[in-house]
Parts: sequence; structure tokens; C-alpha cells
Amino acid sequence: MQESLDAIGEALSENGKVIVTGCLGVKDVVRKTHPSVLAVTGPHDTLAVMKAVHEHLPKPRDPYTDLIGVKLTPPHYAYLKIAEGCNHRCSFCIIPSMRGELVSRPIGEVMQEAENLAKAGVRELLVISQDTSAYGVDVKYRTGFIQGRPTKTRMLELCRALGELGVWVRLHYVYPYPHVDEVVPLMAEGRVLPYLDVPFQHASPRILKLMRRPASAAKVLQRLQGWRKTCPEITLRSTFIVGFPGETESEFEDLLEFLEEARLDRVGCFEYSPVEGAAANELPGALADEVKAERKRRLMLLQQGISSEKLKAKIGRTVRVLVDARGVGRSSADAPEIDGVVRFMGGKAGEFRDVLIDRADAHDLFGRLQ
Ligand code: SF4
Repeated sequence: MQESLDAIGEALSENGKVIVTGCLGVKDVVRKTHPSVLAVTGPHDTLAVMKAVHEHLPKPRDPYTDLIGVKLTPPHYAYLKIAEGCNHRCSFCIIPSMRGELVSRPIGEVMQEAENLAKAGVRELLVISQDTSAYGVDVKYRTGFIQGRPTKTRMLELCRALGELGVWVRLHYVYPYPHVDEVVPLMAEGRVLPYLDVPFQHASPRILKLMRRPASAAKVLQRLQGWRKTCPEITLRSTFIVGFPGETESEFEDLLEFLEEARLDRVGCFEYSPVEGAAANELPGALADEVKAERKRRLMLLQQGISSEKLKAKIGRTVRVLVDARGVGRSSADAPEIDGVVRFMGGKAGEFRDVLIDRADAHDLFGRLQ
């Protein structure tokens, strides 16, 4: 929660006009902390958001934004939300209690939106939901229709269909379920980006159990190996929580060991912080802030070494990038905002270019346009 409040504060100091929407909007903490926000709404309240936008901004005159509503991303990439809610009950999370059980959007509707975006010039679709691999579970993988073609409401079928649009397709928030293995060959064939964002959160069996997370570290390592065998180019990203209540030094070291073995390409790390209403708040053994910060530092230091080595291995290779702005692009290994970038001279936002890599640091690559 603090992270979101900080982000709101940052946005206010950047441009002074901020509308807050989402889970946090149902609490009055936003207004209390930042009384100058223009409006606060709960999740899914598109109408209230649009009302606030029209109240505070003149009607946009850009024919593109006029047609499809307010765009929150640059014109060349877009988030594609395929479902809402979640059937898991991770003890540190309150999303299911706020947004309810998983509700998958009909596959025809998702594909229609994806096609519209591709036609409007979007070059990269970022598939998101709370659990992308669970897509269709709630409707028992019901058969839907994509332009009259019967298609199951399922992650594999959705990826196949998205892979036909001729744009980059990047998958976020994927649980390592066995059926994810079926999607990896599509990555090897170049139909969807060889990139998987799988939030593992921890590796110690006891902590995972306390988190009410289904995965086990040994199985995960096996699965990663399988994915890399099928698609050697795959980029694997994950996020972890350190300092969960009761996490012992040795359990934290299990996590470090897992990271050393897993050699993930991209890693995000959060210090555990209690969220009002989360079951984990009742757990004994809360850790001191200094301990959490120190564990985060150690984890990131270890991962920095792994990331540097992995990026160094790309020197001398030519990588395709989607240019975000002059001099900055992203390869298949880089999701916007959360991963690194590729830097070079020149280029125009929204175009695909090839870059010969001649330098790397712990996060980014540097090279020359070809
Ligand atoms: S952390 Fe993700 S998977 Fe777990 S309950 Fe929350 S939304 Fe669902």
C-alpha cells in the first residue's frame, strides 16, 4: 500500500493532476494522505474515471484517443486484460477479497480488442490478469468464437490466436502449471515472445505453505529446465517477497540457493509489508525492517551478478528491439517499466530495429542500430 501511496505522491509532484482508481480507491486512505488528488474511484469503475477525466480535462482532440478512449500507454504498446479476480488465496494478498473469484473475458471479445489495437498501430500486447495461466478455468474452458471460428477459452488457444496478429505478445503473471509447458513451443516458433513472467514469491517449502502458494521449488526448477530445453531463448522473470513473517535466515538462504540454481533473467524483490485485511498479518514472527531491507539487498546483489553475466553473453549478438523513444528500445527480454532496456543512437518510437550489442551492464544492453 505504501508503494502505491508513494507513487501517487510522485505523480502529484510531477504534474499535479491525478485521478486514482483501483483497489486502493475503496479505502479513504488515499484522500487522507493526498487530499489534492482530483478523484478517487474503486476498481472497474470506468464510468466514474471517465467522468472525472472529462470534468478536469478538456475533451481530447486527437482522433486516435477520441476513438478508443483514454490511453495510458504510448501508442505502440498496450496491456490486454484477459480476466479479472483470482481463485488463489495467497495469505499476503487481498485481491480476491476485493475483486472476487476469477472471471475470464470471452475469448472472442479479448481477440476483438487485440485486433483493434493491432490495427490501430499497437506493436506489442502485454497480456495481463491476476493469473494468466488460469484463463478459462471459471468457464470450464468453454468454446467461444473468434470471427466465427470455434475456439476454447484457454491460455494455449488464446496465445495461438494472438500469435497470428503479427505483433509482439508478452505474457505476464503466469503460474507454473503443467499446461504452461504447451505454450513454450509457441515461443520457440516465434509466435509469442520467448518471455514468461512467473511470480514465484519464495522457494522455502514452509514459507510457500504459509503464503498459501501452490508451487514447490524442486518442481519449479525442473519446469524451468524443461522450458529452456524447448526454447533456449526464453527470458524468465519472477518476483519474490523477503522478510515474510517467521522467515528464518536458513529459509532465506534456501531462496538465495534457488536463485543461484534457477539463474532467472529478471528478478523483482519486495520486502514483506502487511496489507490491511490480509491473512498473513495474523502470523507470528514479524521481522524487523532492517532485517527485511538487508535480505532484499543480499538478494538483489546476488541477482545483479547473475543478470550481468547473462547480459554479457549477449555482446556481439544482434537483437531486434521495439523502439520506445529515440535511443531507447526493448528486446523480447524486456517488458516495459519493469525490466532493462537496450540503448543506441537514433531510432523512432514504435518501429522495430535490429541492434548489434557491444556493451552490457547489470540491467541494460548498449549497441548500434543495424
Ligand atoms: S498474489 Fe496473485 S495469485 Fe495470489 S491471491 Fe493475490 S492475485 Fe491471486
